[in-house]
Amino acid sequence: MRNRRAALAAIASAASLALALTACGQNSEGGSEEKKGSADGGTIGIAMPTKSSERWISDGANVVKELKAKGYETKLAYGEDDPDQQVSQIENMITQGVDALIVAAIDNKSLDNVLQQAKDADIPVISYDRLILGSSNVDYYASFDNEKVGELQGTYIVDKLGLGDGKKGPFSIELFAGSNDDNNTKYFFQGAMNVLKPYVDKGELVVRSKQTALNQVTTLRWDGGTAQKRMDDLLTSSYRSARVDAVLSPYDGISIGILSALKSDGYGTAAKPMPVVTGQDAEVASVKSIITGEQTQTVYKDLRKLAEVASNMVDAVLNDKKPETNDTKSYDNGAKVVPAFLLQPVSVDKANYKEVLVDGGYYTENDLK
Ligand code: BGC
Repeated sequence: MRNRRAALAAIASAASLALALTACGQNSEGGSEEKKGSADGGTIGIAMPTKSSERWISDGANVVKELKAKGYETKLAYGEDDPDQQVSQIENMITQGVDALIVAAIDNKSLDNVLQQAKDADIPVISYDRLILGSSNVDYYASFDNEKVGELQGTYIVDKLGLGDGKKGPFSIELFAGSNDDNNTKYFFQGAMNVLKPYVDKGELVVRSKQTALNQVTTLRWDGGTAQKRMDDLLTSSYRSARVDAVLSPYDGISIGILSALKSDGYGTAAKPMPVVTGQDAEVASVKSIITGEQTQTVYKDLRKLAEVASNMVDAVLNDKKPETNDTKSYDNGAKVVPAFLLQPVSVDKANYKEVLVDGGYYTENDLK
């Protein structure tokens, strides 16, 4: 079976090489040949976590596009943030005989059995963006430097409040983290706290709620409504006679919830300005919010590149080649150290969104109107 896969993939690879050469030769027929070449390389199952966030919709579309260009068929499924649903979707893909799997897990610990089934059927698995834990049946990991994401958020807060320039505050801050079943959550939080904690220790940043441990500040399934409710509660319990100056938010959807709570409490006026609010993913609604001066910052991760990395990994593995990795130490999933390729995130705010997002071709000016 594996040989059949490899042989088919070899044909696909030759086809995509021919395509690449055609492209280099500036042949304008490259596009249509690309379509003809598809379906030769086998079928790749792609399991994405949810359509409730724009980023994962882009991820699904980008991965399909990359794989089709390499000559593969795809089966794409969204688990709607329900771990059981994701498991049965992956089981279906295995039953349907996919040749490889790309999985962005909902619950990183719930995939052990289904990945064993994949292993038994000789199906390689790429962990996409979020590392799958506890299973040795994860071949490669494609993601961003997740600790760096948090560092960018923490550094932004420090710089914006002027702490790095000698201002001593004290400034008040509240902390939010992502879903506790997502392995990325602890990396984002750790990265941010690497930067923020020294200022908390000096008393220049004060967490009035005293909720500073990761397990006190997580947000199940990254849900904006859950974050809004927690921010409401924090404002009521800890900010009746004080103002919050900064909120560490790990993700744009969470930031939107936090901003709603702040607005309901009267923030966003000259007398009571919005605190510094971070985010992640550069989703359209949040970039618009940054332009209008509500959210302050987000972390941009070029999902086009992530899709390319993951698709290249699949293509290499199915052709018995070693995928390119740039980190073979950091991502221990409890069963093995998973070789990874990590991309670099970029901090975006009102000052640089045009340069990074528009000039970089990620959005058009119109998308952001
Ligand atoms: C991703 C983030 C995303 C979050 C919520 C994380 O695993 O790395 O980009 O904001 O999930 O969807």
